[in-house]
This record gives sequence, structure tokens and C-alpha cells, in this order.
Amino acid sequence: MTRHRLRRSLLAGACGLALVASLPTSASPAPRAAAPGAGASPAASDAASATKRWTTKNATALGTGGAVSSVDPEATHAGIEVLRKGGNAVDAAIATAAALGVTEPYSTGIGGGGYLVYYDAKSRKVSTLDGRETAPASIPRDVFIDPETGEPYPFTPDLVTSPASVGVPGTPATWERALDRWGTLSLRQALKPAERIARRGFVVDDTFREQTLQNKDRFAQVSTTADLYLPGGDAPAVGSVFRNPDLAATYDALGREGTKIIYKGRIGSDIVRTVQSPPKTADATLPFPKGYLEKSDLAAYSVVKHKPTKVRYRGLDVYSIAPSSSGGSTVGEALNILKTKKLSTLPRTEALHDYLDASSLAFADRNAYVGDPAFVDVPLKTLLSKGFARSRACAITDRALPTPTDPGALDGSGCTTAPPVGRNDTGTSTSHLVTSDRWGNVVSYTLTIEQTGGSGIVVPGRGFLLNNELTDFTPVYDAADPNRIEGGKRPRSSMAPTIVLKDGKPVYAVGSPGGATIITTVLQTLVNRIDLGMTLPEAVAAPRASARNTAPPAGSPAGAGAVTAAEPEFIEAYGDQLEALGYVLTPSGDSFTLNAQIGAVAALEFRKGGRVLAVAEPVRRGGGDAEVVRSR
Ligand code: GLU
Repeated sequence: MTRHRLRRSLLAGACGLALVASLPTSASPAPRAAAPGAGASPAASDAASATKRWTTKNATALGTGGAVSSVDPEATHAGIEVLRKGGNAVDAAIATAAALGVTEPYSTGIGGGGYLVYYDAKSRKVSTLDGRETAPASIPRDVFIDPETGEPYPFTPDLVTSPASVGVPGTPATWERALDRWGTLSLRQALKPAERIARRGFVVDDTFREQTLQNKDRFAQVSTTADLYLPGGDAPAVGSVFRNPDLAATYDALGREGTKIIYKGRIGSDIVRTVQSPPKTADATLPFPKGYLEKSDLAAYSVVKHKPTKVRYRGLDVYSIAPSSSGGSTVGEALNILKTKKLSTLPRTEALHDYLDASSLAFADRNAYVGDPAFVDVPLKTLLSKGFARSRACAITDRALPTPTDPGALDGSGCTTAPPVGRNDTGTSTSHLVTSDRWGNVVSYTLTIEQTGGSGIVVPGRGFLLNNELTDFTPVYDAADPNRIEGGKRPRSSMAPTIVLKDGKPVYAVGSPGGATIITTVLQTLVNRIDLGMTLPEAVAAPRASARNTAPPAGSPAGAGAVTAAEPEFIEAYGDQLEALGYVLTPSGDSFTLNAQIGAVAALEFRKGGRVLAVAEPVRRGGGDAEVVRSR
């Protein structure tokens, strides 16, 4: 199908929608959601009255013609629909991401940012887009310090639910840039399936309700957010249909006018107004520290195109994202360290011991050396060098490496160390998706609004949440910390969208949400698949542990170390053996985690004859959905 015909066919697919709902024109303001208590909610109604909606999930799918895996069946089907109509992997990725903005609004959306990695089959080249949020130019160093106590505000809910933590969104610019550069669809066409889902609604599942309830107290303090997500004062019921007409109108306007409507236009003005004067309810008790976002910050935003990180591992080339994310450098360094070990021949406990310690060592270096390269001199080449990896690998003995361990000396002088710096952040939001097409192009894309529920602030009349990404900076300014707060800077991320090639052709695409556990989840999935003899579905489903160079909790006995968060199933399976080596396994989970699960992988494996195995989580986060264009 030609580019022109494809565009027509996708728009035609969306036209019926425009007929059944009267949309505001792009020039008129979007309608506001009704106030809670005003009779039946516009957002929730009986599922039975709705048109076809995608609710069935497949953890794996094998076939040809292209594939999509994401956490949500509506989003996966949006991508598959684009592929079926002749779109490519980039078109499908943006359609899937836009749909996630509707159905996974607490993890992703145009109010946030992310990183996209793209393999181009024709040139056999891997490229990346850094669509990370940036700090306002005038952000003060002490933005996260409570003037009353002189200490940082409590992270949750105070800092998280705060205009101060909202960075300039990078997701709209990422979508536009990716489509312009590699896609065949216009932004308008790529947004149409998502616009349709927002308008006709999707079926609320347990995860959506749980995530809403988890955020209920803070959402209730922001009128626009309460109106949209707490209709009638409660989280939408499981099985009801959730509609977001404001977001549908926003996507429509964004598609018609392009991202200038955000970076230089009226949606941008709304974002700035919302940050400067958040729509708090009269009885809000949270402090809502002041935000500094200005129109000039939006106008100054640009997506950055870095060279991908690349390491060679067991005959494969592992490509991922370079700083401002620490994902590619940290996974890459850990793989380089593990390359010095023969994991496939080791008993499982020993292989896991190497995995955990390699991860802790790489995290120590990440915390000390990685930040936004526009502001910090990141020694990326050294961090990804074999020599440096050897100087770090010698710290792994037959006992657990006590944590926190110091970062390595950059001159690679053996197991010497530099003083530790930096915070070891965790998080649980975000979403990862992977797509491929019949031509062999591949996308691995992780996007986020940071915390589950982001800043908790919905832009009035626009139907999307703003991010709280700036909480990824170290909250207390330290000139030696590469992740210190600075105006115009991107906070360090852990996102690690990854594509693995063999002889220039894709073998795997993988990524995950989960804050800093993203790094260990991607690393563990690769190790499981490449070294430990698991199939890709097994590698994804296997219980996880996340060693991030964590200090022992206060009150621990002297010498306690090697603190490692782990899923209960991991502790059950390997706890005794690893604790005998000196690990302190603690059940994963924090105040914003529904349960003790680590990550939510979406992955692809490329096989002979153009066949692709698409894999989603079978259980975590309620399971994801993997689909192919043609099953076989
Ligand atoms: N903000 C996190 C990061 O960029 C992602 C948040 C999450 O996955 O919970 O690493």
C-alpha cells in the first residue's frame, strides 16, 4: 500500500467516530469533565452498551507480518491495526503508545517522557530518541526542600504530587519526531486509534481500579483529577467503561495542529497555567510546592538523538539508550562484567550471585558518574569498556558483595574505589512496548509519567496527567552528584529500551517499567534467555531479584550488606542458598507498589523465516498482551 493510500485508509477507519460524537473543533476549547456527584459519570457506564473492546490478553504470540507487545490489549490492538493496514513498526509504536496514554494513563501519556530505540532493517542501523522531560530553566536548587523544616518534603505524597516536580513533557515531540523520521503515518493518523478508544471507552480492569484507589487520597485533592478519575468520589468499578472525551479532543487537536499546540500553543499555555496554579480542591492538605515551568521552557524543548549504547555479549550486540538515561550504560556495564564469567556452566545459585553482584557494581558506577550529558561529563566510553569491566569484576568473590559498594576508579586501576555519591531511586510506574513489522524494522520504547499517577494533576479540560519526573533528580543539591538539580537539565532515568542484534539482524527486543528496577529486570531477562537456558517466555516469567547497591536498613547488625529486593517467588526458590552466601533478600515493594512484583516486560524474539515470538507478562500487573499480524 502506498503511503498516501495508507493514510486515507486509516483516516477512513476513524471517520465513523467523528460522526457519532460531536467533537469540538480544534479552535474551540475542549469540554470539561463533569463534577463528581453530578449524576451519572460521563466516564463510567455499563460495559454492555459499548462497541467492541479488546480485553483478552495473550502472554505469547508467534507469527509473521509484524508484532506488538504491551501491557494492555487495547493498546496492542491499536498497534496491530496499524500494521495490518500497512503501517510500519514506528507507526505501530506511536499508535500503541498513544493508546496506552488512554488505557494506562497513570503510567504514560503526553504529559510525560520516554526513550525510543529503533532498528532500521534497510540500513541495519540502530537509532535512538531521548524524549526525556527537562527541568524549567529557573528551577532553584532547593526546589524540593521544605522551607519550614529545611529537609526535603516527604517523597510520597508531597513531592510526587507537586507542581515543582513537573518537567517539560517530551512524549509529544518524541512521537512527532519518530513519525517524521521513520514512520509512514502523520501524527494525526497515528493518534486516531487512541482517540477512538478515549471516546468509546475501555473496560476498567482490576489493575486500573487498584491504581486509582492507590492514588485516591491525592487525586481527591486536585479537582480536575478527581472529576476524571474519581467519578462520584470513587475509583471506576471493574467492568465499567471508562471514557475520556477530553483526551480524545486533545489527541484530535494535537493530530490536526501538530506538537506546536503543546510547545508553542494553547495546550502548552494550559500546562503552564496548571503548573503555576494547580487546580487544588478547597480542602486540599498537601503542600503543592511551587512549580517553575514557563512557556519559554516548553518552547525550548527538543528531542535529542544520541548514539545508542552498544556492548558485545556472547556474540550478540546489545543496543540501548545512552544518558540521560542510565539504562543502557548500566545494563551494558553489568553485561561486560558478566562476560568475565561462564554463567551457562555454573550452578544456578552461583550464576545468580554473579548477576546480583555485577548489578550492584554497575549501580555504584551509575550513581557516581551518570547524569544528563548536556550538563555532566559522563565517562560513557570508560563505563562500557572491557578494561573497566575487568577492574570491577575482580570485586566479585565467592561471597556476596557487601552493599553499598563504592564506585570504581575510572582509570581502571584494579578494585580501587571512588567515594560513593548519589541516590538509589526506585519507582513502579511507566510502560514498555515493542513493535516489529513485515519489513524487519523494530521499535523498543519505554515511556512514563514517573510515579503511578504522575503528579496527580490533570490539565483542566485536556484529559491527561502531568508528570512528576523531576523527582528523579537527587532531591538535595550536591555539586559532586551528576544527577544534581539544574535548570534545563534532564533528570537521570533508568529506562532501558533494548534491541539485541546478531550479525546486524535483530534477535531480541526487550524493556520494562519499574524505576531503577528497570535496569535489573532488563539485565535479568537477557541473562535468563542468553545464559541460563530459558525460553523468552520463561525468561520473562521467572521470579526476579534486583540488586541496586542498597544500604542495609537502619538498625541492621554491623556488616549486614548485599541488600537485594526480590519477589517472594525468588526468595522461595533461591533464598536459602543466596542467604548462605551473605545476601539479605528483602521482599520487593514500596508504598506505591500494589504488590511485590518487579517490572513488567514486553519483549520480542526474532526467528527464521520472518517469524516473531511476541511476549508479554503472564501475571505481573494483571498480565500484558502480545499479538502478531498473522499467527502461525
Ligand atoms: N522515572 C523513572 C525513570 O525514568 C521511571 C519510573 C518508573 O518506572 O516507575 O527511570
